[in-house]
Amino acid sequence: MPEQETIFHKIASGDAQADIVYQDDLVIAFNDANPQAPTHILLIPRNDELESLNDASKSDEGILGHLLFAAAKVANQVGIAEDGYRIVINTGAAAGQSVAYLHVHLLGGRDMTWPAG
Ligand code: AMP
Repeated sequence: MPEQETIFHKIASGDAQADIVYQDDLVIAFNDANPQAPTHILLIPRNDELESLNDASKSDEGILGHLLFAAAKVANQVGIAEDGYRIVINTGAAAGQSVAYLHVHLLGGRDMTWPAG
């Protein structure tokens, strides 16, 4: 049992519903419930061991790489790859991480501003 079971633990285990757009043996991608762009998809590892990027160790390089690879694949699948998109991994309170389960945001479908807020 994780220290703090989040909604993403439940989505990963199949105990909660999500609007899944892509999945493979390592990751699940689903639409964000409160989208910040016309396309806003979250990608999570099926394995629930990482609360954030801060917990990652050398042995997690594979899943971290796969999350980005899968994000690019999904961007292509949903038609935002050519125009461009943004990948975000909020890490910790100051960055606004609200769910203690490692997740990648894939945002697209509009022009982005920089620096990010
Ligand atoms: P963060 O603030 O980086 O931790 O991102 C958490 C994201 O999860 C937010 O964009 C929320 O809108 C999203 N979210 C929370 N609960 C759900 C849910 N059940 N299904 C889809 N997205 C969710």
